[in-house]
Amino acid sequence: MEKVVLPGEFLSTEEEYAEGKKSYSADGGVYASVLGTSEYSKENRDVSVNGFKNVRRLKRGDIVYGRVSIVKDNMVGIDLLRAEPKKGERVAMTSSYAAILVRNVSREYVKNLREFFRIGDVVRAKVDGVKPYGIDLRTDEQDLGVVEGYCSNCRSKLVKAGSEFKCLACGSNEKRKIAEQVRG
Ligand SMILES: [Zn+2]
Repeated sequence: MEKVVLPGEFLSTEEEYAEGKKSYSADGGVYASVLGTSEYSKENRDVSVNGFKNVRRLKRGDIVYGRVSIVKDNMVGIDLLRAEPKKGERVAMTSSYAAILVRNVSREYVKNLREFFRIGDVVRAKVDGVKPYGIDLRTDEQDLGVVEGYCSNCRSKLVKAGSEFKCLACGSNEKRKIAEQVRG
């Protein structure tokens, strides 16, 4: 993922890097003027921001992909990988941390979240809300859920077998909230 910076985001101290294009200095620090990607030049000793065109920030309803980083009793932590592109738009991901609360996982009753997600799985999810501390996701639709599952025994990539995943390496059968579009 590109390092995306927000307007006003701290880039460097003035001692390390001077202001370059689309950045400004204040109180000994250098900050981004626009939404874009930061570029540090050792040669010029300055830091610039390459501003985006036709870019907007992530919003409710966007589809994203992420990797499960932690599974707790009441929520799943996700490291965001990318947003599913829409026509003519780029979506900037300014946060990499997201979570799925247990109530947003499935329309089924969720007794044990580990039967829905495991660490390392790649999920397709919908943005439910963009909050200051991170992004809330949901997977309670048929085409949302795990798109790439990894064996909880041996970490091999799983294949779909009926409504479950199967590990061809060690034979483990694994339950997940599988996104419907996945073909085994
Ligand atoms: Zn296995």
